[in-house]
Amino acid sequence: MSQFDFDLFVIGAGSGGVRAARVAAGHGARVAICEESRVGGTCVIRGCVPKKLLSYAAHFGEDFEDAEGFGWTVREAEFSWPRLIEAKDREIDRLNAVYLGLLEQSGVQLLEERGRLAGSHEVQLGTDTISAERILIATGSRPWVPEFEGREHVITSDEAFHLEDLPGRVVLVGGGYIACEFAGIFNGLGAEVHQVYRGDAVLRGFDPDIRAVLGREMAKKGINIHFERRVEAVRESGGACTVRLDDGSELAADCVMYATGRVPNSRGLGLLEAGVEVRANGSVSVDEYSATSVPHIFAVGDITNRANLTPVAIHEGHAFADTVFGDRPRPVDHEFIPSAVFSQPQVGTVGFDEEAARHHYGEVDIYRSEFRPMKHTLSGRDEKTMMKLVVERKGGRVVGLHVVGHDAPEIVQGFAVAVKSGLSKERFDATIGIHPTAAEELVTMRTPIRG
Ligand code: FAD
Repeated sequence: MSQFDFDLFVIGAGSGGVRAARVAAGHGARVAICEESRVGGTCVIRGCVPKKLLSYAAHFGEDFEDAEGFGWTVREAEFSWPRLIEAKDREIDRLNAVYLGLLEQSGVQLLEERGRLAGSHEVQLGTDTISAERILIATGSRPWVPEFEGREHVITSDEAFHLEDLPGRVVLVGGGYIACEFAGIFNGLGAEVHQVYRGDAVLRGFDPDIRAVLGREMAKKGINIHFERRVEAVRESGGACTVRLDDGSELAADCVMYATGRVPNSRGLGLLEAGVEVRANGSVSVDEYSATSVPHIFAVGDITNRANLTPVAIHEGHAFADTVFGDRPRPVDHEFIPSAVFSQPQVGTVGFDEEAARHHYGEVDIYRSEFRPMKHTLSGRDEKTMMKLVVERKGGRVVGLHVVGHDAPEIVQGFAVAVKSGLSKERFDATIGIHPTAAEELVTMRTPIRG
């Protein structure tokens, strides 16, 4: 009989924690998991899932307009934000129940409480202390808002999913993927949107062509992007806000949303006391097996700030459980992780951006195509699709693939297998395209635009 209450205790029932708990239990471990909010975590409750549902909703406005070019007459369409939020909440409840069922079926004990380390093998939950041979920290991250005058008047993505009404005028602060996605959502649903960003192009860290093309296409759709501007103060009066920018100009808003980054949920977890090494930004340092500086304490997902995406957290959680409880050591490979931005238009990307590829591989060839998608020949919409390949010249390998346009995430998910597998441009060229599609462009680009 073990001297511990459990073989594994997981703190945080989000993407990474739930997967790790279930897989460890499947390997025969006695597992408990605690959750202070709702099982499912950021992705299911206040991230990827509700965001994508809202993004679908926002697309319909354009779809109705585009239909006219194909012979349809669409009568005045009406939109109800409360009905959308209610439908979205029902779906989130359903998924939450699915997650609860999965934990139960796999024999994982759920404790609906906040947990903190109370020793190197102990977790404190309220007044109880539970011991475990191994502990997994999977507490995720939360929105970060800088200090400024009027900070108390702004919301983050957490609150955006629960607004009672669709705001008529929105000021969105930030240039990252969450800011761009919500700009598209509010704009598509009919709000007047001003996006304020201190940089000179959206999506810092993405390929420069993605950044330029997305910014331009978002502006064409009516999103007012204020580059190289900072918010100095937000004043509230009578339910409306005035946002003062650093050039002295003012923007009126019914809602001011900040999407200025996220920080790891490591505060008050007792990590330092337990001897777990925490970086200056609050993230937990781990090795390729997700082990922390304390050999029997592990961490996965956003708390480790490796690649803050749901499939990565799930992969890390699964690999940890196989390594520690399944006798199958699996390091996590973080190279060539595909990702998407559900902006309007959408973005899909895998591998190196042009600058990083040049830095990493030396000489690279760039293939790039920009065109009006077939649908918009009849819809008349002025929207362009951009596709780009970054090829390292020495071995001919495709090391970056970037798309802005309709269904970019769906396209790039398929191509990510080829890029991850190290296929060469020659193999891309040897692949017959599917006609007529936009994606066929990725196997028919023959002449580099620069080398
Ligand atoms: P989480 O899923 O956040 O789970 C952590 C859990 O721990 C939470 O439920 C939290 O309540 C709980 N917790 C925290 N502290 C404690 C404690 N002390 N005790 C008990 N419980 C605790 N990723 C994508 O891949 N694609 C997307 O399209 C995408 N869109 C996003 C959109 C938004 C608006 C946001 C905010 C995020 C999005 N993400 C997306 C990121 C994704 O949600 C995260 O990377 C992912 O959820 C991280 O999983 P995790 O297991 O590390 O943490």
